[in-house]
Amino acid sequence: MANLEDVPTTDLFSEVLRRMKCATKPDKRLILVGPPGSGKGTQSPIIKDEYCLCHLATGDMLRAAVAAKTPLGIKAKEAMEKGELVSDDLVVGIIDDALKKPSCQKGFILDGFPRTVVQAQKLDEMLKNRGVKVDKVLNFAVDDRILEERITGRWIHPSSGRSYHTKFAPPKVPGVDDATGEPLIQRKDDTAEVLKSRLEAFHKQTEPVIDYYTKKGVVANLPAEKSPKEVTVEVQKVLSS
Ligand code: AMP
Repeated sequence: MANLEDVPTTDLFSEVLRRMKCATKPDKRLILVGPPGSGKGTQSPIIKDEYCLCHLATGDMLRAAVAAKTPLGIKAKEAMEKGELVSDDLVVGIIDDALKKPSCQKGFILDGFPRTVVQAQKLDEMLKNRGVKVDKVLNFAVDDRILEERITGRWIHPSSGRSYHTKFAPPKVPGVDDATGEPLIQRKDDTAEVLKSRLEAFHKQTEPVIDYYTKKGVVANLPAEKSPKEVTVEVQKVLSS
């Protein structure tokens, strides 16, 4: 842990204020489901800040593991490059560990997990052992036909997860993150060709997850073809009800 004496007073105060605001918010355990490019990653930071939740995106965690060449990354790399799913055991393990983080105390946003019914069942078990359950599953429903343009124009700031789009949400300076000035990257799997496999995996393996949670009565459908701002309004309606 950082020595608190070394932390500037203004930073300490803003962290104390943030924690006081968070203490008044209800706990929330959320799952975001939707095909690649449906806007999960765009809405997640907004929901995270509003409700003081942790944001766990298995895709981001796996990409970090691939970049760091950890044993997990080495196992996951090939499937990710082909747009196929990595094994259930790998992702269940990383989520189980990540949920222990103090930042997940008030709840979590799972983004890109669970992606198979087996993962959903394993998650239910994990949560049952902790005496909690999923509150809402936000289903980012959108037609496949508009996803190719969204995906192939996407640029990412890897460390924050912020995403941009050359046409719909360009950064102030091309190729550079607005907040930090750091370089943006294009994901290796954000090509029209790999998108085909990713969509196939979504329809075959992940859509049944939506049915699984529909039976539990926790799914809220969002019109994800709308603009990010309009989707934010819809998300807020769902989460405040
Ligand atoms: P994403 O960033 O969510 O689009 O994920 C990128 C890639 O990581 C996917 O195409 C999969 O290969 C892998 N991945 C991410 N999350 C999962 C998951 N829950 N189960 C299996 N594979 C996953």
